[in-house]
Amino acid sequence: MFRQAKALLRLRGQQSAWRLKSTAAERALQYRAGQKIHGFTVREVAPVPDLFLTAVKLTHDRTGAQYLHAARDDSNNLFSVLLRTTPRDSTGVPHILEHTVLCGSEKFPCRDPFFKMLNRSLSTFMNAFTASDYTMYPFSTQNGKDFQNLLSVYLDAVFFPCLREQDFWQEGWRLENEEATDPSSPLVFKGVVFNEMKGVFSDNERVYAQHLQNKLYPDHTYSVVSGGEPLVIPDLTWEQLKQFHATHYHPSNARFFTYGDLPLEQHLQQIEEEALSRFQRIEPNTDVPPQPHWSSPREDHVTCSPDALAPDPARQNSLCVSYLLGDITDTFEGFTVSLLSELMISGPNSPFYKALIEPKIGSDFSSVVGYDGSTKEASFSIGLQGMAEEDTERVKQIISQTMDDIIQNGFEEERIEALLHKIEIQMKHQSTNFGLSLASYIASAWNHDGDPVQLLQISDSVAKFKQALVENPRFLQDKVKHYFKENTHRLTLSMSPDEAYLEKQAQAEEEKLQRKIQALSDSDKKEIYEKGLELLAAQSETQDVSCLPALKMCDIEPKISPTAVQMGSAGGVPVQFCEQPTNGLVYFRAMCSLNTLPEDLRLYVPLFCSVITRMGSGDLDYRQQAQQMELRTGGMSVSPQVVPDSTHLDMYEQGVLLFSSCLERNLPHMFQLWSDIFNSPHFDDEERLRVLVMRAAQELANGISYSGHMYAMTRAGRHLTPAGDLQETFGGMKQVKFMKRIAEMSDLTQVIRTLPRIKKHLLNPDNMRCAVNTTPQKLSDTSAQLESFIRDVAGNRKQRKPVRANISERPLDPLHESGPSRKLICEQNFQPCQMKTFFQMPFPVNFVSEIIRTVPFAHEDYASLSVLARMMTAKYLHGEIREKGGAYGGGARMGGGGLFTFYSYRDPNSVQTLSAFRKGVDWAKSGPFTQQDIDEAKLSIFSAVDAPVAPADKGSGRFLSGITDEMKQSHRERLFAVTHKNLVGVAERYLSVGQRTCGVSILGPENEAIKKDPSWIVK
Ligand SMILES: [Zn+2]
Repeated sequence: MFRQAKALLRLRGQQSAWRLKSTAAERALQYRAGQKIHGFTVREVAPVPDLFLTAVKLTHDRTGAQYLHAARDDSNNLFSVLLRTTPRDSTGVPHILEHTVLCGSEKFPCRDPFFKMLNRSLSTFMNAFTASDYTMYPFSTQNGKDFQNLLSVYLDAVFFPCLREQDFWQEGWRLENEEATDPSSPLVFKGVVFNEMKGVFSDNERVYAQHLQNKLYPDHTYSVVSGGEPLVIPDLTWEQLKQFHATHYHPSNARFFTYGDLPLEQHLQQIEEEALSRFQRIEPNTDVPPQPHWSSPREDHVTCSPDALAPDPARQNSLCVSYLLGDITDTFEGFTVSLLSELMISGPNSPFYKALIEPKIGSDFSSVVGYDGSTKEASFSIGLQGMAEEDTERVKQIISQTMDDIIQNGFEEERIEALLHKIEIQMKHQSTNFGLSLASYIASAWNHDGDPVQLLQISDSVAKFKQALVENPRFLQDKVKHYFKENTHRLTLSMSPDEAYLEKQAQAEEEKLQRKIQALSDSDKKEIYEKGLELLAAQSETQDVSCLPALKMCDIEPKISPTAVQMGSAGGVPVQFCEQPTNGLVYFRAMCSLNTLPEDLRLYVPLFCSVITRMGSGDLDYRQQAQQMELRTGGMSVSPQVVPDSTHLDMYEQGVLLFSSCLERNLPHMFQLWSDIFNSPHFDDEERLRVLVMRAAQELANGISYSGHMYAMTRAGRHLTPAGDLQETFGGMKQVKFMKRIAEMSDLTQVIRTLPRIKKHLLNPDNMRCAVNTTPQKLSDTSAQLESFIRDVAGNRKQRKPVRANISERPLDPLHESGPSRKLICEQNFQPCQMKTFFQMPFPVNFVSEIIRTVPFAHEDYASLSVLARMMTAKYLHGEIREKGGAYGGGARMGGGGLFTFYSYRDPNSVQTLSAFRKGVDWAKSGPFTQQDIDEAKLSIFSAVDAPVAPADKGSGRFLSGITDEMKQSHRERLFAVTHKNLVGVAERYLSVGQRTCGVSILGPENEAIKKDPSWIVK
């Protein structure tokens, strides 16, 4: 995986605070600076009360490896090791290394131990990332034995990998006959990273971000592409890869981080014994020097491919100004400028939103915007995308003028208050991946020798910030003057589409290929062919994975841990109460049925959801409304929902989900904001609506190259169930095209007339149920507040007739059949039909999906199909689609709506992948798998089923889909019971050709074979 880390202030707390005293954090306070433990010396012990943790900083005596432990009463323990990787060319060496070290190591020489461990563990997270200047390997798990197993595998992979030549070919790049078994077929480039990066750079936003970084920091490691430039990747040799490993993957260049309630000593001992004891200290020389400052600003221009789905084809230019800021190891300065950035760009009250977004010069901010602390020196960028070329000078002028205005006028006090409130909520909100958030939060600054403990002391920074404002009322304005107005190290980068972009890229690749081929002798070609066959043989070999540690079925809890909920009501509306350790926050949900909405309006529902909380309501215009939401809540949102029934494939619930959170003290304010939205939402501001529509359409268009598999899957499922059809309406290509059409309308009056009609049907307490998660102490107060909210909105209560006659009711509380119910649509006469759809897209890679209609969640075969999907992915499809096919990812999954789904992600192949899916079914039917394979598939399902759930989300599955703990428990028992015979049986009964209806969809580049085939619909 490759990503550009964004150092946002995004800290989420986790499920502690239930007990008043955090025992793991308390124990850790007993360490003393200077204490020696297993080859390490403790340097600092610091309590961080805001985050309920104790930080222990250590160094490894012999190698100088750095170590940070965050002791916290959280069972979702995390480990991560970070290496500073500072490449000097764009061959993608750190990225290819990240992939190849995971292909086998000294103690675990089997192919791909990393992917194999996914099925032998109960990990809650396993991954690896290549950033611009570091590579990080994190995992988390709630099981102590599993932690030790994974730690062994990770340490061995990182410090003692095999780095075989074959691994380099498979993961990096290679020349190979197009058909590996046919020496007369043409030679082509293959390799997982090679294809992955082609996919990454099919995303124009990524192209822009990459160029911007390269050009703003032109003198060292940030001037190259750490993930790999597709045309430069083939310059990398295996020798260079091994060399890079030797110099960068060394403990003297490493930072270890552990988090959670497991004892520190045990981690230190294992890390010392299994890895560090075999090293001596080196001087890694991986420092990134400061970027020399420019004496005058620069301008540059780049091109990209045109976007067929962009909301306005005539306006596809981007422009932004990017400023080089200070060193990120200065914690307080980084904190200050990141807050400053929020004040400048975030929300409709910010100066840049007013100056750039509202005049509608572009469709949205440029893809890179705001503060970025992922490089040694931070940057700030501001600009637009989706603009016309002739507006270039105007945009530059506005940016400069807005900076002047800020220096002149500063910020309203209330906005600063709202921002500090947001930080308070972020620190209190309990999430499930707190360890991982911390690891990412400290990574960049620590990587450049900043103090990670200081970064965690957020309250100190907040206090210092408030003090600075008191001492100097112009504190922020002075910063703007210094960092922006007077800063000569700034780059103005524009990007415009080039019709011939893809063609030029393809041509450049072809030329590179031909140069490589021309240098080959006949014997070289023969060798390439033979190596291709060797690789194929190695990929097809059955692996002996017995060297890898594994959990056993008996390590899995036989029972689910139940979540208690109480059913009640407020003003006649059913309410589910769930008591949780929410750390002073209240979470509110409401599901509003869509059953009475005329069907022709359903396409508008996502648009309605995205604007209903942003156009103003009651006495508040949209700016005041946004301000109140920031001051009083942790956010308010509305989203469309399609909830398939658990017992019947042709039944589903449709609605919109309201969600918000707030600090306990703000409960009345939060409900007041909802009341205003119910009673008097504003819809008539066409200008405001247009801004929201443009941004939404742009966001959808940008998301396709990243989430193409989701769109392929949604389309493939469209004709298989009624719920699948509605999913396509709400979130598929149909919705993307609809929003594009709306964004292109010159007159939005018709939309403005439609929104209030939708509101009448949706925001109706008669069709509503609510859920609240809060602490036991706050329950009765919340209930009373909710009661008064329902009273306030009672005027919207109206009995309306459902559009469809066939409504089926399900009791909310299974023990009270006669109580309140969910109302589901039941389309008994639904006829699933076979359909193959191809969407031609401006990408060099494909997203392929095939879906088969099977059985709903409560059916006895559902568990077998779930296990089968996991097993086919691990034992067959991964090898065929990723290893042999060169796609970034691919597999099968079983969905709650009864759809058995095959998919591939960033795939160089299209119809060949469809036949790999089919061969996977034949493989499953012939049953060549062992009990161990079945157990592994079950383990990987349980690690998902038992993933931690945040206090905010407990009981929400039950609230939405009516799936009770009892139903979960019987599903669990079925999973345990799945046998070899069951798996072969379901493969035969459901997945064989002609057994059940299936749908197919591909998003990808122009495809001659599909065009000629009349069985495809080409869009
Ligand atoms: Zn990757």
